[in-house]
Amino acid sequence: MKNILVFSEDEQVTSRILGTVGPLIEHLEAKLSALSINHNPENLLMAGAEVVYSYENKHLEEFSVDTYKSLLLEAIKKSEAGYIFIGATKRGKELAPRVAAALNAGCFTECQELEILENGWMRVKRLTYGGSVVSTEMAKSTPIIASLYPRKEIETKRRSEGKILEIEFAPVEPKTKLIEKREKSKGLADLENAQIIVSGGRGFQTQEDLEMLRELAQTLNGEVGCSRPIAADQGWMEDWVGISGKKVTPRLYLACGISGTIQHAAGIRESRLIVSINKDALAGINQLSDYSIIGDIYEVVPALIKALKELG
Ligand SMILES: Cc1cc2nc3c(=O)[nH]c(=O)nc-3n(C[C@H](O)[C@H](O)[C@H](O)COP(=O)(O)OP(=O)(O)OC[C@H]3O[C@@H](n4cnc5c(N)ncnc54)[C@H](O)[C@@H]3O)c2cc1C
Repeated sequence: MKNILVFSEDEQVTSRILGTVGPLIEHLEAKLSALSINHNPENLLMAGAEVVYSYENKHLEEFSVDTYKSLLLEAIKKSEAGYIFIGATKRGKELAPRVAAALNAGCFTECQELEILENGWMRVKRLTYGGSVVSTEMAKSTPIIASLYPRKEIETKRRSEGKILEIEFAPVEPKTKLIEKREKSKGLADLENAQIIVSGGRGFQTQEDLEMLRELAQTLNGEVGCSRPIAADQGWMEDWVGISGKKVTPRLYLACGISGTIQHAAGIRESRLIVSINKDALAGINQLSDYSIIGDIYEVVPALIKALKELG
């Protein structure tokens, strides 16, 4: 059971995981397969899969965890996969433990790195305790499931001519039914892809005060983010950054009036440069920051906007 199967409901995520896993298994005699549900299987061959199990059904427009689980189990059987890697998207996080339970297998969730050793053991690194530590965990038995964060940009390459095999499958009756679908309100920040994020926390006293944060973001050509209390408790913004919110990877993360709790930190660790503005020199965010400005946001933010505008 050495073979590997990769799946995500997001084709780009499947491709990125294929690109990540491909070089890791060159020392193994393992076949790298992928499951494609209503995607273009050719793209997955291009990303390195040797076999793509493809299922197309235009009636299956919505993600259904029961149907996707059954399809994945079918693909696991056909590919004789021992290692099953699922994109750690919201959907993937629903799917991975269900597939593991169906196979009575182990499941590593939200892995950041993984490797398969010569002896067949799988070793993963994942954030635990709210992102405060990175734990290294190992499994020796297969099948084993891992949900994995794909690397942002990865060079993928075709490994072989590749094969596309259609999956014959009679959809199962889902246990859950989609009753209503609501669009998220427009104008939301694309935090996950933003290169510059200016984020506000409880240091802001009113919703109106967040205008200066928006002006600073605009001046820097960035997006606006916040800590959870600003969105979830105050309702002043829609999405927050952190372990229960968006995990971000900008070039610059500017934290204004944010204390830097482990839940917030878990979402910003992959930022290239973290700068904080906080009036408390002992605030935890300063430990995480590359540069800390100790001062009042109500003075520092307007001064920054002015200076940046002067610079043009
Ligand atoms: C299960 C769970 C999941 C959670 N997930 C998340 C998550 O994903 N993301 C998240 O952010 N939180 C999350 N939280 C909440 C988290 O524990 C903190 O409560 C939250 O991060 C604190 O937000 P904050 O830094 O804005 O506020 P605070 O901790 O209150 O910090 C405010 C900071 O602003 C500074 N400040 C105040 N006034 C000024 C001023 N005028 N000028 C400069 N600095 C000033 C203070 O010194 C302080 O450091 C979660 C909590 C739980 C229990």
